Amino acid sequence: MTSPTAYDAAIAGFEPVIGLETHVELSTASKMFCSCSTEFGADANTQVCPVCLGLPGSLPVVNRAAVESTIRMGLALNCRIVPWCRFARKNYFYPDMPKDYQVSQYDEPLCVDGYLDVTVDTDEGPRHFRVEIERVHMEEDTGKLTHAGGATGRIHGADYSLVDYNRAGIPLIEIVTKPVVGTGTLAPLVAKAYVTELRDLMRALGVSDVRMEEGSLRCDVNVSLNRPGDPWGTRSETKNVNSLRSVERAVRSEIERQADVLSSGGRIVQETRHFHEDTGRSTPGRSKEQAEDYRYFPEPDLLPVAPDAAWIDELRATLPELPALKRARLRQEWGISERELQSIVNAGALEQVAAAVAGGVDPAAARKWWTGELHRIASDRDLELADVPVTPGHIARVESLVASGSLNDKLARQVFEGIANGEGDVDGIVAARGLAVVSDDSALLEAIDEALAAQPDVAEKIRGGKVQAAGAIVGAVMKATRGQADAAKVRELLLGRLGVSE
Ligand code: ADP
Ligand code: MG
Ligand code: ZN
Repeated sequence: MTSPTAYDAAIAGFEPVIGLETHVELSTASKMFCSCSTEFGADANTQVCPVCLGLPGSLPVVNRAAVESTIRMGLALNCRIVPWCRFARKNYFYPDMPKDYQVSQYDEPLCVDGYLDVTVDTDEGPRHFRVEIERVHMEEDTGKLTHAGGATGRIHGADYSLVDYNRAGIPLIEIVTKPVVGTGTLAPLVAKAYVTELRDLMRALGVSDVRMEEGSLRCDVNVSLNRPGDPWGTRSETKNVNSLRSVERAVRSEIERQADVLSSGGRIVQETRHFHEDTGRSTPGRSKEQAEDYRYFPEPDLLPVAPDAAWIDELRATLPELPALKRARLRQEWGISERELQSIVNAGALEQVAAAVAGGVDPAAARKWWTGELHRIASDRDLELADVPVTPGHIARVESLVASGSLNDKLARQVFEGIANGEGDVDGIVAARGLAVVSDDSALLEAIDEALAAQPDVAEKIRGGKVQAAGAIVGAVMKATRGQADAAKVRELLLGRLGVSE
């Protein structure tokens, strides 16, 4: 674990600059330059052809759907779509890449100069940052190597390696930010908020299924530090950071590491680093001191991509309501503060709350249950929120029972627990578990008398005018009735019994 003090010390002495490169697999039916399927999970090397295997004489053709997805993404990121651009060959050898070059875009990306606004929740309220986008370009994915026979699954210590080319040629887009400055101590959270927003944007556009655990969204995290007033420092690039949480952790741990090096008089070398999910730390990879020479040149086998204005307008018209606008609209419709909305977003409950409200549940109640009890149930059981089997109908029924006084929040939590267990519907669970608020005054008075007898000193205090002490008796009564009493009612009866007023 990173210690907060090491981080605080680092950030007190240095200003961080961050930059994110995000690779996303597009969810087109076929690959970038051939008609092979992109379906995930097929047997190794069953989705390949001469083009994606790089066999001599094969000719690639650009996938129109991939270009459309890239343009839509560029538009959603407020980019300029260039009228003409080409693919380039990036030459290097690696066994996961059968052609010995990757077809990518180099100095002629399809989309340039955009931005994405993100919000970070802080103790002082939400803060907004504009992350500027340098470029969005198209490229193809490589195959996948599996290193077998070793203990770690890494190439070191392996007996042999297997290669699966099903992924070779799957369309990727790479989204590169400009250096992000001025985030200070919030840098790790800004990085995470940016990738989260990007993911939500792509989901809304339907251009990718953005499943980080399947590797369809991968981030490289660039970090540098400088003393206030100095020029930017040398950056490191932490590769393949594969979860939202890791994006935050990778930035945080790199800030700590670089501050350590710089504070003790060392210097940062420009290098790639590898992030380890288990330790939350990174280890050095390739040094970039001598920049690799990929001998980029324009891809001679592919036509340039030249989207005309009419096509771009057509694609612009297909953009759905984007997440930021949707949030603003919902916030207004629900009449809640930005911070309250942010708490829903942070709990990953926006869709659930929206569905509940659409199903007739009061927005405040929907928010309370989905960010509270239902969120807790999901994390306790390692479920996605979407997989908690609570419907708007369930919430509406629970709320009406609470409103009529026959359930309280504590009992309602048990009802939701029961629904998550598959014990039936609300009324069935209330009956089967015997959940009902005890509203019979005589039963409550009996419990109050018992509690007073058990704590005579407290009883004396209350009689003497110390009404604050009443909480202890109310608590004892709530316990005795297993939470099935209305606490306000118990308090009222108790004070009446002792003849004191608030
Ligand atoms: P490369 O392929 O060498 O990684 P890119 O241009 O694709 O280069 O990406 C570099 C990333 O690093 C960009 O997101 C850029 O904004 C970011 N970056 C550039 N300079 C710095 C710096 N001094 N500190 C942090 N990030 C930086
Ligand atoms: Mg890079
Ligand atoms: Zn193919």
